[in-house]
Amino acid sequence: MRSGSGAGMVQWVVMASPTAQDIWIDDKARRAGYADGAAFAQAHSLKRYRIEQLYRAATRERLAAVDDVTVLPKELRAALVAESFAFDAVEPVIVQKSNDKQTIKGLFRLHDGNEVEAVLMQHHGERNTVCISSQSGCAYACAFCATGQAGFTRHLSATEIFDQARYFARHLDAQGRKITNIVFMGMGEPFHNYESVMQAVQLLNDPKGFGLGHRHITISTVGVVPEIDRFSDEEIQVNLAISLHAPTDEIRSSIMPVNKRWPIAELMAAVKRYIAKSNRKVFFEYVMLDGVNDRPSDAENLAKLMHGPLYHVNIIPYNATPDAKLGPSGEQRIKAFQAILEANGVPCTVRVPMGRDIAAACGQLQAETQPRAKVV
Ligand code: SAH
Repeated sequence: MRSGSGAGMVQWVVMASPTAQDIWIDDKARRAGYADGAAFAQAHSLKRYRIEQLYRAATRERLAAVDDVTVLPKELRAALVAESFAFDAVEPVIVQKSNDKQTIKGLFRLHDGNEVEAVLMQHHGERNTVCISSQSGCAYACAFCATGQAGFTRHLSATEIFDQARYFARHLDAQGRKITNIVFMGMGEPFHNYESVMQAVQLLNDPKGFGLGHRHITISTVGVVPEIDRFSDEEIQVNLAISLHAPTDEIRSSIMPVNKRWPIAELMAAVKRYIAKSNRKVFFEYVMLDGVNDRPSDAENLAKLMHGPLYHVNIIPYNATPDAKLGPSGEQRIKAFQAILEANGVPCTVRVPMGRDIAAACGQLQAETQPRAKVV
């Protein structure tokens, strides 16, 4: 029997999953009005190495704009500029620096006029963490979060997410520094925009491009149980953080509507499945709200939900938001809470708030209602 045909031959059609470069060029080409990257390449008769040059210039070399990619022929650059093929899907509108100079918040405009915020935190030059947004607004309406109170506008595409990191990476490049960590803790719920977030992770991670290790990336979720399971199946070393904020369904449902859909028992079961599969540490975020979730009995109950060294609690002092009726727990209250967790053998840290003076701290990102006066 001749090879390639007839009985006994099985034809496998393998759909290769898109590379980071494919994701990037598809997104950029669509923005410039093409169906996808292939249509864009065809329109300009571009060979694959040309696309590679563009991709590398934007993600690895991080040049400012298409016109700076001098390895490309001049006419091609001019043609791309003319059709608004752009490296940046997000345009900085206001950039503010905190008084201690350690935090910079960027307000970015998307092509349709929607806005998102991202924050760079420079921890004394050692760690440079960038907190990025995955949605404009948020649908989950947590009582203590400014973004949630403002409601949902839309999902961000992979490069709209990635380009927030590109902006701050370029800022740091100029100082000879690098982003060391990325956290998906800005506006929006990452697991409500799962595909684009995972594509953004691929863009951030690509060794041929941006090149940030998975272990330096953290995704924080309000607790969307099916997507926690989906994330477990990815088997990647990206960190998972869970916004828990309360040890009982009664309290959690009163401040986080998502708890009515996926109560604590279901959430913790999903975390257990994730840990069983990954053997990775999970971070539980717990914002301290005066008289709501900060009693000694709350700490005791929280400790009961934590099962060993892979369950780590991040205690977060509450950052004021415009209209919430909630207040921050006092320092003594926070210390006592931490002491109870520690006495129960629960690993925990108290997060130091950064950038409160420019409303850049956790839960303060709101974008559209930010005052427009303090441009740096
Ligand atoms: N939607 C995701 C990611 C964004 S929020 C999530 O819920 O995890 C990032 C963290 O900031 C979450 O743990 C969130 O609960 C917390 N946060 C929200 N509002 C806050 C506030 N006012 N003060 C302190 N932390 C807050």
